[in-house]
Amino acid sequence: MSLVVQKYGGSSVADAESVKRVARRIVDTRKQGHDVCVVVSAMGDTTDDLIELAEKVSPLPPARELDMLLTAGERISMAVVAMAIAALGQEARSFTGSQAGVITDGVHGKARIIDVTPGRIRAALDEGHIAIVAGFQGVSQDTKDITTLGRGGSDTTAVALAAALEADVCEIYTDVDGIFTADPRIVPSAQQIARITSEEMLEMAASGAKVLHLRCVEYARRFNLPVHVRSSFSHREGTWVTDQPVEGAVVEQPIISGVAHDRSEAKITVVGVPDKPGKAAEIFQVVAAAEINLDMIVQNVSAAVSGLTDISFTLPKTDGQTAMNALNRAQEQIGFESLRYDDQIGKVSLIGAGMRSHPGVSAQMFAALAEAGINIEMISTSEIRLSLVTRAERLDDAVRAIHTAFGLDSADGEAVVYGGTGR
Ligand code: ADP
Ligand code: ASP
Ligand code: MG
Repeated sequence: MSLVVQKYGGSSVADAESVKRVARRIVDTRKQGHDVCVVVSAMGDTTDDLIELAEKVSPLPPARELDMLLTAGERISMAVVAMAIAALGQEARSFTGSQAGVITDGVHGKARIIDVTPGRIRAALDEGHIAIVAGFQGVSQDTKDITTLGRGGSDTTAVALAAALEADVCEIYTDVDGIFTADPRIVPSAQQIARITSEEMLEMAASGAKVLHLRCVEYARRFNLPVHVRSSFSHREGTWVTDQPVEGAVVEQPIISGVAHDRSEAKITVVGVPDKPGKAAEIFQVVAAAEINLDMIVQNVSAAVSGLTDISFTLPKTDGQTAMNALNRAQEQIGFESLRYDDQIGKVSLIGAGMRSHPGVSAQMFAALAEAGINIEMISTSEIRLSLVTRAERLDDAVRAIHTAFGLDSADGEAVVYGGTGR
């Protein structure tokens, strides 16, 4: 007998019928003789709806209360899934993140898991029950307040629990058959990947492929835990995220593993910065003090006459207002002229471990965009990734052009998207 952790995303539990379907799948796993711990996301677009509700009653909802509100979504799912399982004659017990022992730091909205003490889950499993855990949430070690792990964080709950329970496998059930060479909603000819290394998946997730939460991939890598991403709507074999070879999968590393895109970032340009040592440091200290993570940074050549330069950087749109406020307050001290905010940008990234040893990848990527008539605004690279910023309205075209240029289009048929709104 083995211990299986299964995570069901929002589109897999979107309504009563879906909940019943998922319950049958969970019960089937239990009947095969496995111990089963299930992590659930909020039903359908509940989290987005709750955020909209909060924004209607407050222009800037207090982070603590927003977390309190959002965690209600997963609480609904865990209870209805447990009920649906009970209706099938199996014993299920639901637990909040806090009850499941998910201990985090106190950063509301993007808390990090610092420990998992799943005593109550273990006890429920030992009694032969199916344990259902609310994803995306934990409790702060210091303040004892309820926290959330950031959008898409239920994936991380699942992997953290799987590691703490020493599960044999962690299955992430979603609305597509696995991980593809691009988001199938944008590129219907994307191909499913049989196996992807954690290094490549980290870059994909960090570049916006929201099929897996970034922290979930980091966690799985640290604990050497294989993750199986698959559809809750089919019984097909999904994609394995693992650094071990997988039976039946091609062993040879492809040069390119996929194209990711991200619409969640904005660009701030600090205009007219004195071109003197220490000025960039001052700007980014202000941003860091506001607990904001930057992505790309570009500094223009300074105009010789004025001795002034422009510095642009990208950051999550959700942090845009905070960053603008912090920089505005520091304007006099830093001595820049003005600030510009642009949230109509998109980022497209090409990822592949083979880039290390293959020159010419960037030239080919730029040529694909040139041919499609798409302007490049910013560029950043890592060893195995190349990212470009374009206008948001050309992002989908950019993804498709690059996918085709690198020969990633499948010859046989379209990728299936079973549900969800892609929100
Ligand atoms: P869940 O609600 O199950 O957590 P998500 O919406 O968070 O589902 O993630 C699944 C979605 O991720 C898919 O429907 C797809 O649109 C998107 N996605 C983005 N990039 C990829 C990719 N490379 N492979 C598969 N899906 C991707
Ligand atoms: N419900 C949360 C969200 O929509 C967490 C998750 O689905 O993983 O972001
Ligand atoms: Mg998700």
